[in-house]
Amino acid sequence: MKYLVGNWKMNCEAQEASDLLHVYKQLSGTTDNKVWAAVPACYFQQAARVLEGSNAQFGGQNVYSQAKGAFTGEISYGMLSSMGASFVLVGHSERRNVFGESREILKDKLRFLASSVTKTFTVILCTGETLEQHDDLEAVLTADLEFILSDLPANDQLSLIIAYEPIWAIGTGKVPVVADIKRAHALIKELAITYIPQERMLGVLYGGSVTDANCREILAEDLVDGVLVGGASIKADVWSRLVEVANS
Ligand code: PEP
Repeated sequence: MKYLVGNWKMNCEAQEASDLLHVYKQLSGTTDNKVWAAVPACYFQQAARVLEGSNAQFGGQNVYSQAKGAFTGEISYGMLSSMGASFVLVGHSERRNVFGESREILKDKLRFLASSVTKTFTVILCTGETLEQHDDLEAVLTADLEFILSDLPANDQLSLIIAYEPIWAIGTGKVPVVADIKRAHALIKELAITYIPQERMLGVLYGGSVTDANCREILAEDLVDGVLVGGASIKADVWSRLVEVANS
């Protein structure tokens, strides 16, 4: 079983979102893999309605580090879970680089989630290096994960997935060589279980310019538990082929 997670980012208007959700629903019935969609928050209700009774699941693209209050524009864990979302992305490189989310902010989010989530909810933490840092992959990933995941409140309910997303590969059409993906995933797996009980660490996904054309080679690796996909996840034909290739 692999995780096939689409990150819609800030794309799709209402009708397109509805059409795409129906595609996710239909595809989830054709596979043993997990078909998940990180949708814009305004489509949570639509996603809950369309995906009900199917194997497809939806989640959010962001969450705040407080339960509620005067935090205009933010979304809480309670909002996500009460709408039926089953996962959330934390620390996507666009949140870090476009919206200035620092490691401190991400650590606060993880701390809050670790003390709040129930067993049915999964946090997908994204990490990755810039092109200049690529030769120092190990040091960069270690520093990032150590900072964000150390000293979390003990909670055996926190299910964690880590998405390895080299920043230079996101939306660029560039993909690291498989040997580098394996290197990064092996390191992340080893590191993660020093912070999270092994049984709550659900896997490591690769993200960055994954398409129907390159997913076979990436998903073939045992160290790759799935993919986090941006651009290709909002094109119904490409996403459908990707799910089909992942099945074969
Ligand atoms: C992403 O948004 O997480 C991503 C990997 O984007 P893309 O697939 O478009 O590179």
